Amino acid sequence: MVLIFIDQSERKIKKTSFEAITYGVKLAAQLNTTAAGLVLGQTDDDLSSLGKYGLTKIQQVDDAALNDMDAQVYTTVIAEAFRNAGADTLVMSANLTGKAIAPRLSVRLKAGLVTGAVSLPDTGNGFVVKKAVFSGKAFAHVAVQTPQRIVTVSPNAIRAESGSGEAQVEKITVAVPAAKVKVESRDVLKGEVSLADAEIVVSGGRGLKGPENWGMIEELAKLLHGATACSRPVADAHWRPHHEHVGQTGGAIAPNLYIAVGISGAIQHLAGVNRSKTIVVINKDPEAPFFKAADYGIVGDAFEVMPKIIEAVKKL
Ligand code: FAD
Repeated sequence: MVLIFIDQSERKIKKTSFEAITYGVKLAAQLNTTAAGLVLGQTDDDLSSLGKYGLTKIQQVDDAALNDMDAQVYTTVIAEAFRNAGADTLVMSANLTGKAIAPRLSVRLKAGLVTGAVSLPDTGNGFVVKKAVFSGKAFAHVAVQTPQRIVTVSPNAIRAESGSGEAQVEKITVAVPAAKVKVESRDVLKGEVSLADAEIVVSGGRGLKGPENWGMIEELAKLLHGATACSRPVADAHWRPHHEHVGQTGGAIAPNLYIAVGISGAIQHLAGVNRSKTIVVINKDPEAPFFKAADYGIVGDAFEVMPKIIEAVKKL
């Protein structure tokens, strides 16, 4: 049985969870077994509607103590739910929550772990999972040899597939241990598209000269219903907040469209964005390395090109 962990934020199911569900449901079909979802904490979403992703059964530990993610508590509760369900495979997103809890669960359950799967495993002869390595420069095929296994799915590698259907939601009881840390306060960015979930990302680099010039990046992102991102030196210089920094040492994203403005395209930056479906580069230097990775390139001064793009998008 494949158990799929359905991750939430602010009592809402994350987009990456829909991808994990699609992956888990397809994997269960491939293994000729059943799939069930697992939700921790209370939710404002209609869990039965997740049936449209092919899930027929969802278990929920409906306990307010689980509304905030705590890696130690989540590990204990998910491990218990996994054992009680008699599952042999656990699927979750390789998002921040997955990164924090999958290794702990691997130790707790003595289950082989593959992080950041980019496609369904080859189950013809064993259980071999393909994952990106060396900042997306190569792929590794990892064979899991334990009877129980955990696979985390790289965000945006699998497209969530929905149709119709209704899942049966079962409230389950699992002992929830006391948390060793307490959340004192939270700052939630309201009304902004989260970078991890964004289909379109407009990103700026040092070529923009200073934080005062970010208005055009924000405006284009808003017009396209996208999110903003930046290169590392921009975050290091405090022109933009650190959560916007993408690359080897920042967030890894894979939106449908990544627009890079005044970014050179250093290998460390590309490591975080090279899985984007379409890359558009605006740079005044025709020799900028980013053009080699771009699907579309505009050689020009960002301060002349961006206002024209913004005007054109406004007319759409
Ligand atoms: P620059 O390299 O200064 O490039 C600015 C670009 O803007 C140039 O190509 C220039 O032609 C162009 N430009 C200038 N003016 C204009 C204009 N008016 N209009 C249009 N274009 C213009 N970097 C990351 O981004 N993410 C990471 O995670 C990351 N991790 C790193 C990890 C390590 C271990 C190391 C050593 C480095 C890392 N870096 C990372 C830094 C990386 O190597 C580059 O230094 C950085 O990406 C460069 O940022 P940039 O392209 O914004 O700036």
